[in-house]
Amino acid sequence: MFAKHHSLDPVEIAQVDKRHVLHPWSDLKTMHTEDPLVLAEAKGIHISDAEGNRYIDGIGGMWCVQVGYGREELIVTMAEQARRLCYYTPFGAMANVPAAQLAQALAERAPGDLNTVSFATSGSGAVDSAIRFAHFYFNCLDQPSKRQVIVRMDSYHGSTYLTASMNGKRRDWSQFNYARELVHFLPSVNAFRRPKGQSLEDFANEKVADLEAMILELGPENVACFVAEPIQASGGVIVPPEMYLPRCLEICRKYDVLYISDEVVTAFGRLGHIFASKDVFGITPDIITCAKGLTSGYIPMGATIYSDRLIKAISGENAVDHPYFTNGFTYSGHPVAAAVALKNLEILEGDGILEQVRDTGPYFQAELQKLRDLPIVGDVRGMGLMACVECVVRKIGAEPGEADMAVAARVDAHAQERGLILRPFESLCILSPPLIVTTKDIDRIVSILRDSLIATQNDLI
Ligand code: PLP
Repeated sequence: MFAKHHSLDPVEIAQVDKRHVLHPWSDLKTMHTEDPLVLAEAKGIHISDAEGNRYIDGIGGMWCVQVGYGREELIVTMAEQARRLCYYTPFGAMANVPAAQLAQALAERAPGDLNTVSFATSGSGAVDSAIRFAHFYFNCLDQPSKRQVIVRMDSYHGSTYLTASMNGKRRDWSQFNYARELVHFLPSVNAFRRPKGQSLEDFANEKVADLEAMILELGPENVACFVAEPIQASGGVIVPPEMYLPRCLEICRKYDVLYISDEVVTAFGRLGHIFASKDVFGITPDIITCAKGLTSGYIPMGATIYSDRLIKAISGENAVDHPYFTNGFTYSGHPVAAAVALKNLEILEGDGILEQVRDTGPYFQAELQKLRDLPIVGDVRGMGLMACVECVVRKIGAEPGEADMAVAARVDAHAQERGLILRPFESLCILSPPLIVTTKDIDRIVSILRDSLIATQNDLI
């Protein structure tokens, strides 16, 4: 038994994995037959499988390994903190040094008066806490009917009961139950799929009007919050129309609806700034949620950052007697994770990585745009170091055609043969490399992607 657990034989590990591991987003009919890629080690922007094949990690783990793999400073920090204080409960007003320092560091970098931080162990946990807070907030203000949550199609907010209910990727809706009575979906803001002949300006106006119309339809007295990723990541790197986010914020303010900016992907440098809400899109939301790049994926951690305005409103003179926020987790503010997050921030800022992304990001986008000459490419979009190549097999319509659905998986298979991992979803090839990629690495990524798209085109002829 012991020997089996320590086997390094990739074939055997794959068998054990197929037999016992229920991966996220598994098809139960094929989970026991399809071979996983068994990963063994990683360094910089490269990851190797257990058979020794080396790939460029085109997706930064999953939008998260900002500073690259194998950073000695992070590993040493982790070990030192574990040796000093590996864990203690955050309940009962127990503080630990790195968590307090990290909360302060996040407050200093977050926009406006977002100064109070609750910790979670994932992005889902951070978003879940934000929604729970929104409900708690209006209950404390004696407005319990303000409960409804507005999100958008193509969004992704997580995999807890509530956050999964907030996911607007229709193909993900499966045999689960969802909190449909609480969550309402606005139409997608994907300009590529807008009706033929509609100008971008009209499209943007329509999307902003959609939000106001939904608030009015539900009744502002029933709406708690609007939750939006600044750029919808997993849904296909959907960059919102110019001024869309500030105008949505204005509408939220008008109807006393909390604006929750889900920065699980966009924070910590992916767009060249620690937080993108203010620095890239000019908005100061009421709440920011983050995770992933917070620790560069070295250890799980999420955070929710709340505006002082909200905290004051429910803790001041007019507040209910005991605004008792019974939310949090055993591992909230875990000292080892917090120490890693602090060191990660130090690297992102101290090593000039944010500035580097402001140079490499536009280069990455410009090089990817050149793929538009390929017939299979329908759209290329993105910002900073997040991008999506949308493939189109049949003619472009309001929705992707059936034949488009599996095309990105083909591109990914061709890319893996050539040494690049990307993230396929239906017709979308998504890229979010570690932030340390150089222009030379980008050339290599784009060149492999081009060859893989051409190979896919040839398959389909
Ligand atoms: N929010 C956004 C925007 C995400 O992209 C994700 C994950 O991809 C989540 C929330 C959920 O994060 P986690 O998987 O860490 O729970």
